[in-house]
Amino acid sequence: MTTSSLIPGQLERGFLVVVSGPGGVGKNTLVNAVRRRMPELLYSVSVTTRPPRPGEVDGRDYFFVTAERFAQLVEAGELLEWARFGDHLYGTPVRYVSEAVASGRIVLLDIDIQGARQLRASRRLDAVFVFLLPPSLEALRERLLRRASDDLRTIERRLAMALTEMEAAPDYDYVIVNANVDEASLLLESIIRAEACRPHRLRWPVVEPAASSRQETRPGR
Ligand code: 5GP
Repeated sequence: MTTSSLIPGQLERGFLVVVSGPGGVGKNTLVNAVRRRMPELLYSVSVTTRPPRPGEVDGRDYFFVTAERFAQLVEAGELLEWARFGDHLYGTPVRYVSEAVASGRIVLLDIDIQGARQLRASRRLDAVFVFLLPPSLEALRERLLRRASDDLRTIERRLAMALTEMEAAPDYDYVIVNANVDEASLLLESIIRAEACRPHRLRWPVVEPAASSRQETRPGR
């Protein structure tokens, strides 16, 4: 489904939609589903020091860089936020998102909880924060078991980490329980559409005066 209600140019300024959640909650699948539902959304491609996984493409999934290059980007102020996650560094290139927002576009960011916290604290860009929760801890455990080749101890450690991460959920603007990707992506789409209707984001006047009423008010007619 494409849309007519979120035409670029309708918003005075765009905004960021920041999606976070514990590992294994299905964030990637949700983000991909909402991008299919709303092709007009832009997606912020992060920079990372993590090596590519099979099938990942440089410039599409991530910009894969060395630790030295990452340090240069931080030093030069080219990252809007950045964080260490596991053994690797991840960051959001600032120029792409700033320019997109300035031109009225909505940009989706899939970033971890520390990065989301930095964005919220900096208030540099208008952003809406969405947290994704699993339907139950058992469901999360099953997902971790299914997807990873990790041993049980690693999975238990990740589950413990997920519990800590989930404590951040009440600080977000919205919480979505990801029991089913279709429902969750419909909810995320609804949130984005509703946020795009907030008066402070719209270009005013929303309704142009009719040509006839303009003529009527012209002197001498
Ligand atoms: P993965 O290595 O599985 O692709 O991502 C690991 C974690 O890093 C995920 O939680 C993902 O949301 C997060 N992440 C990806 N890009 C960024 C980024 O630019 N900044 C921050 N802070 N986290 C990111």
